[in-house]
Amino acid sequence: MRPLEDHVAVVTGAGNGIGEAIARRLVDAGAKVVVNDLQAAAAEKVAAAITADGGAATAVAGDVSAPEDVSRIFEHCTEAFGDCSLLVNNAGIVQQSLFEDLSIEDWDRMIAVHLRGTFLCARAVIAPMLQQGEGVIVNIASQLGQIGGVELVHYSAAKAGIIGLTKALAREVSKRGVRVNAVAPGPINTDLVRNLSDDWRQAKAGELPLGHFGEPQDVADTVAFLASPAARIYVGQTLGPNSGDVML
Ligand code: ADP
Repeated sequence: MRPLEDHVAVVTGAGNGIGEAIARRLVDAGAKVVVNDLQAAAAEKVAAAITADGGAATAVAGDVSAPEDVSRIFEHCTEAFGDCSLLVNNAGIVQQSLFEDLSIEDWDRMIAVHLRGTFLCARAVIAPMLQQGEGVIVNIASQLGQIGGVELVHYSAAKAGIIGLTKALAREVSKRGVRVNAVAPGPINTDLVRNLSDDWRQAKAGELPLGHFGEPQDVADTVAFLASPAARIYVGQTLGPNSGDVML
């Protein structure tokens, strides 16, 4: 089954981790994929690996918080494969800081990458999608946007903002054929988590109803579902691949 055969996807921050898994998963489902990342080499490596496996992928470097870079990313998409019909806003940064130590610069950067980036990329695709009368946007939030993370006020606020943006945009454009949803992952075995101590991971896993963390693939499967026709009545939702850590 290749439910995304007709889709031209852009996945931001797809040079590593969860974004890379999403790009590969969308290709497996039949989509053509533009692999964006701030790090050109990482994006190129992922696109080359997908191409070597017989998939359709192209890389484009760019900062999702910079309007001129965002224009370039979507121009590249249109030239390579046609207008973007499936946008996955995944690019992100994580930085831990006690609230009393949080600088204005760190706050602004966190909000810029996640919230401004999601806004700019959605803004770049929305006109062609509305014109076509179809399109899908999936925004990667985090369960920390739902419950708050300690020493992560700026990250949690940015991710909560993404959930609000998702709901409001979904209300506005769904009748015109564009579906907008979010994914709020819980603890996932990414490089960041793998680098933490075994003791921390075991303790955290033990607290989860499921007893273990998810994998990047689990998040990618959720994105692929939301993008597929099987999710046709999902609008403004936030799905939680989170091992039961947060139940809403
Ligand atoms: P995870 O492990 O949760 O998947 P990563 O840090 O591996 O997180 O992935 C986030 C990706 O987003 C990285 O590849 C990073 O380079 C990319 N990224 C970060 N900031 C930006 C940005 N402003 N524009 C585009 N990509 C970005």
